[in-house]
Amino acid sequence: MSNEKIAVPGQVLATEEEYLPGKNTVGDNGEIKSTAFGKIIFNETEKEVEIDAKSRRLVKEGDIVYGRVSLIKDSTAVLELIKAENNHIINMTKGQIAVRNISNNFVERPDSCMKLGDIIKAKVISVNENTTELSTKEEGLGVIIAYCTKCRKEMVFSNNRLTCFDCNQSEDRKWYLKKETFENRPNRQSFNNSNQRGRFNNINNRNFNSNDRGVNRNGNRNFN
Ligand SMILES: [Zn+2]
Repeated sequence: MSNEKIAVPGQVLATEEEYLPGKNTVGDNGEIKSTAFGKIIFNETEKEVEIDAKSRRLVKEGDIVYGRVSLIKDSTAVLELIKAENNHIINMTKGQIAVRNISNNFVERPDSCMKLGDIIKAKVISVNENTTELSTKEEGLGVIIAYCTKCRKEMVFSNNRLTCFDCNQSEDRKWYLKKETFENRPNRQSFNNSNQRGRFNNINNRNFNSNDRGVNRNGNRNFN
């Protein structure tokens, strides 16, 4: 999708002198505007512009998104959103998780469950102009890649804790899987490959260990 031009509703695509309004577009005072989210297609044979909206829509309530923890406050964690499941369009750069929406267990402060730089899988619970509220309460949601607060290496989940095999630090997170389902973990490579905006550059590929390789064999899930 790197070369795709995605239109948002209301966006001016062309003038009515240049093209005819096609699917998911409308002519408006000499301009052709999009009425949907989707790929812009200029049909030069028919001189028509249309929006291919069937495969893409905006993130909404109930969708799963991925983000990196960029700020932790007393009662919220802020995520820089990276991508959404099913290739839905992320129209917001940030989302936030209120402390009450982190876990079904009582959480006093967000930083007991997630740390700056961690990658989080979360569910969208509401979207409006000002905020995108997220939740990691359910099993399957939470931190999916954790970085050691001491040395910044990626940590490995073992014996119900996250351990850094570089400096032996052990830390807790609202980890997204139970230990027994850890084998289904998505592999880190799918994030590296989908790095459209260069946000995963500091994931340290040298830090692969035997545990990760075992996971990769089983977990070649693609987020698209
Ligand atoms: Zn460490």
